Amino acid sequence: MNKKIALITGASGQDGSYLSEFLIKKNYKVVAADRRSSRADNWRHKYLGIEDKVIYEDFDLADIDSIFRLFKKYKFSEVYNLAAQSFVKGSFETPVSTSNVTGIGTLRILEAIRFFNKKIKFYQASTSEMIGNTKSKMQNENAEFYPRSPYACAKVFAHFITQNYREAYGIFACSGILFNHESPIRGEEFVTRKITKCLSEIKLGKKNILELGNLNSKRDWGFAKDYVEVMWLMLQQKKPEDFVISTNKSYTIKDFVNEAAKNLDFNIKWVNKGKNEKGINIANNKVIVKINPKFYRPSEVSNLKGSYSKALKKLKWYPKTKIKQLVKIMVFEDLKRVSK
Ligand code: NDP
Ligand code: GDP
Repeated sequence: MNKKIALITGASGQDGSYLSEFLIKKNYKVVAADRRSSRADNWRHKYLGIEDKVIYEDFDLADIDSIFRLFKKYKFSEVYNLAAQSFVKGSFETPVSTSNVTGIGTLRILEAIRFFNKKIKFYQASTSEMIGNTKSKMQNENAEFYPRSPYACAKVFAHFITQNYREAYGIFACSGILFNHESPIRGEEFVTRKITKCLSEIKLGKKNILELGNLNSKRDWGFAKDYVEVMWLMLQQKKPEDFVISTNKSYTIKDFVNEAAKNLDFNIKWVNKGKNEKGINIANNKVIVKINPKFYRPSEVSNLKGSYSKALKKLKWYPKTKIKQLVKIMVFEDLKRVSK
């Protein structure tokens, strides 16, 4: 039997790498589409040992010709749209290009599906950032959207246009409203990886201090490897639907720092508040964490905690990796990397 062909956009990113690995195991032919520059060192695919197991194609989500060329070349069964300018802070500096790629880019893919084959199943990488500053303590698929960044606004457009193509053209299109998910191959600009890498460097005497922004915002952090399975599961259902994917728990940035520090045998004492807050290494009384306001955002999302009960009920999915395990895995890998 012919293998199913899956297109993954943003395949060199964190989720694209884990999803490539997952679909290869499921016997798919994986077309890994990215900008050529994204694959300069291909470190994530090398880390997972999959660089010889996917078909690489260059494309740009901002360029409709490059998208149509891909759809002309391959008969895709499933398309996973993970490509995006995905860094919230970065979207305040590049709001227009973020909207063009993260928002309109999704429409370009949907147009290709509408034009070439409406039977192709489509997954859209939606985000808890669309929910943003909500009043509800725990957020499910019915949560109202209050996006707080150009990134989140672009994702709201992508989310609704996905729903619209489902309703207007009968395309099997699903959005996964994923809460934050991390791993040893998370980009270093995101707070979790920044913390695990920098504290590992401090442990080995290669750095003195970790500078952060808002320590008090709360995030619902899961393990990216657990989350890619559910992207595939959504496309195997009888009817297309949207799902919240999360852990039902949330922690502050400071909690994450404390947990990472514990894994490195640092004991941190926190002093002062706001911009003057500092984390002191109790063993030698040195400041190892301080605030740098340049990492604050013009508008912040202060509390995200998702409810995955619909995914549990309909997809039999639940997050396998708990936060303590996740932090341990990330610290272990970063310590190994910075020791080299
Ligand atoms: P990454 O930033 O690791 O990966 C995104 C990929 O998209 C990168 O390879 C990037 O390449 C590529 N990309 C960016 N711009 C373009 C473009 N114009 N054309 C083609 N490719 C482009 O993100 P994640 O893997 O963490 O996330 C995957 C998706 O899920 C994203 O859409 C993200 O917004 C969304 N999401 C992620 C969450 C998380 O916690 N990780 C939570 C909820 C949603 P380059 O290196 O060139 O920039
Ligand atoms: P996001 O939830 O997609 O924005 O993921 P991030 O990992 O970028 O940020 C998570 C939270 O950490 C946000 O509330 C940030 O304001 C907060 N944060 C605090 N310090 C930092 C920092 O130095 N870098 C980043 N990226 N985020 C920080």
